[in-house]
Amino acid sequence: MLRFAKLVVALTPLFAPVAVTAQSAEELALVREIFADLNPRSIAENREHCGYIGLDDEGNLTFSEPTPGDSDSCLADDPVNIQVITTSYHTHAAFSPDYSSELPSGSDMEGDEDEGIDGWVATPGGRLWYIDTDDMTTRQVCGIGCLPSDPSFIAGDSGIIEQSYSYDELVIKLGE
Ligand SMILES: [Zn+2]
Repeated sequence: MLRFAKLVVALTPLFAPVAVTAQSAEELALVREIFADLNPRSIAENREHCGYIGLDDEGNLTFSEPTPGDSDSCLADDPVNIQVITTSYHTHAAFSPDYSSELPSGSDMEGDEDEGIDGWVATPGGRLWYIDTDDMTTRQVCGIGCLPSDPSFIAGDSGIIEQSYSYDELVIKLGE
């Protein structure tokens, strides 16, 4: 078992694109399951929640228990049950007209890039975003209401939101 785990770690950088493609449907199903419970909780408590997705020591897809953050940030605990981390996940708390919380932030993308992983983001409007740090782009996997959303969410409050952004486009959009 240990030998297998080491092999997975050793091969991951070489075969990462293949692995991500092969597991993406399964991972998307898992992430929707996580956010179905977590986004309503995040909205009700008005604080972000965050964690990781990856492979356990038997090579099965799994996720770490979410760590609660505050209304505009979250720092996930190190996962104890994940051998190979593939992505992070986090929510964006409740709707607020003061934040452009319908989009990932520049620092969301930077954080995943620093850790060498991709990321998933749920918004108060129920959007699901995927952050791809290989080419530093982010795209909406699905739009308003595809995850449970905040009843007080006002569509259009953050202006026109595109289907995808490069990091540079995102930073300009957010005025960071
Ligand atoms: Zn974020």
